[in-house]
Amino acid sequence: MLETIASAGAGFYTGAEDVARALYIRALKDVPPDVREAIEGAHQRETHERAQKILTLVVRNVQIAEEHRMLVCQDTGTPIYYVGLGTRLHVDGARLATAIRDGVERATREHPLRSSVCHPITRANPQTNTGYRIPVIHWDFVPDADHVDMLCVPKGSGSENMSFLKMLNPADGVDGIRRYVLESVVEAGANPCPPCIIGIGIGGTSDVCVALAKKASVRKLGTKNPDPALAALEEELFAAVNHLGIGPQGIGGDTTALAVHIEHAYTHITQNPVAINMQCWRGLRAHARLHADGRSEIGT
Ligand code: SF4
Repeated sequence: MLETIASAGAGFYTGAEDVARALYIRALKDVPPDVREAIEGAHQRETHERAQKILTLVVRNVQIAEEHRMLVCQDTGTPIYYVGLGTRLHVDGARLATAIRDGVERATREHPLRSSVCHPITRANPQTNTGYRIPVIHWDFVPDADHVDMLCVPKGSGSENMSFLKMLNPADGVDGIRRYVLESVVEAGANPCPPCIIGIGIGGTSDVCVALAKKASVRKLGTKNPDPALAALEEELFAAVNHLGIGPQGIGGDTTALAVHIEHAYTHITQNPVAINMQCWRGLRAHARLHADGRSEIGT
């Protein structure tokens, strides 16, 4: 029996452009509920007076952005989209990529937003927040779904500049991974605007490992790696990172991380790659679900 596969109509692509535009702006203005909850919890638990004052300012910053419909932080970031294609919906991927790019350009022009994207050598800024290979789009599949999921992450540079990769030796084992994560967080210090969501990639090849670390950093807070051994390592590293005492904005305190997430892949028998990617406290992300006729639901 033939399976029924829906086809995305013209309305889908105009809808996708509108959604890409809306998500970019929303992710810059609206801190997701799980991140707010984590900040408020950390604020209540923090025992260092100066750190608590910083967290009071962070909570107020989020409120002011909401009250005045302002950006939470000045950095409009590098626009990154994670697109999950339902396998029961026929979509023209190239057309969808163009719609996303057009949405970013419209958000930049119509809001307006600062353009943070430039040529890597000439530093020419097209003032669109787009350019060759930007926005970054990661493609994935959603089995048996007739919709498309879109997650927008405008990645701030302070945290993105604190990205790390090491091809450890298998003999370094899990202890080597633990050590490298903690050394990287110490090296990052105040630069990624802690408290951070620390994404860790373990395994794969070098490129996959780095992509996994980014994916881990944008996972919803409160979620765990489905592998119990890795979930336990997430918990252990979360406690260890907060024990470092770097604290909010690096001024000392109990709250260096809001969460530690790990994403993993199998790797080569002679490799032991580990990567770290951090999200600053504002935890930028916004999610939407698109349907074949262009309808969408925007959430987080
Ligand atoms: S790291 Fe985050 S909070 Fe800090 S300046 Fe960049 S975007 Fe803003």
